[in-house]
Amino acid sequence: MPEGDTIHSAARRVGAVLVGHEIVEVETPQRRHAMDRWPERLAGREVHAVDAHGKHLFIRFEGDLTLHSHLRMTGKWGVYRRGERWRRSPRRAWLVIRTADHEVVEFDGPVLELMTESRTRFDRRLAMLGPDVLAEDFDESRFLARLRGDDSTRGVGDALLDQRTLAGIGNVWKSEGCFMAGLDPWRRTGEVSDEEALEVVRGIRPLMRMSVERGGRIVTYAGPNHPARPGARGSDYWVYERTGLPCRRCGTPIRARGQGDDNRTTYWCPSCQS
Ligand SMILES: [Zn+2]
Repeated sequence: MPEGDTIHSAARRVGAVLVGHEIVEVETPQRRHAMDRWPERLAGREVHAVDAHGKHLFIRFEGDLTLHSHLRMTGKWGVYRRGERWRRSPRRAWLVIRTADHEVVEFDGPVLELMTESRTRFDRRLAMLGPDVLAEDFDESRFLARLRGDDSTRGVGDALLDQRTLAGIGNVWKSEGCFMAGLDPWRRTGEVSDEEALEVVRGIRPLMRMSVERGGRIVTYAGPNHPARPGARGSDYWVYERTGLPCRRCGTPIRARGQGDDNRTTYWCPSCQS
């Protein structure tokens, strides 16, 4: 599932080819959008900005119209030169925006809607979002207020995934962040101090921002001599998808179990995180 760093990175790539370039064509190939008349409504408008909040991406057109998308589990943004082969089947395209030189394609996008700017501001789902973990001026006190306003019996690993508390975090960063902070993801949030919760966020933020710089490729573990050295090549994790393998710090087998109402798998070292 795409996490915040992947979406922010996509927003950069999409923005780079759309902002300041004439939009020559907009296409919505799926039947669900056949009646929406987006091509007509967007014809001739410039794109002012492309930005992300958490896992939501916004393409802002002049004249108060914004395309809002959320990729859910399988979606992907593609940016191609005209004539370049798409990396997914054209049948899976939900939106195609063409300039003279590029094609921007959203594949497998279950959430795709055209809204007015004012509606995006008042949309309940968007207003509910917690502070964006990738925001330059990340609001720690708002994050803590949301965390404390939530059910205090929730395991912290589950609570951290709630986009109303922290927008943009996903399963990889949740597991890696708890490990790096030495925090047991199964502890109830009521038993986790503000400092402990903040340590998770402060640990993953620079790595996620690095990941955006590098086009959405994640590294948390880069070898025994350079633990968590951002910018290293490859993609390796401390605990994520390492079930049964020895912990890179202490050798204890890494464990994995579904957590929370959505049963998202949490990976952890039972000895480093106790
Ligand atoms: Zn360990």
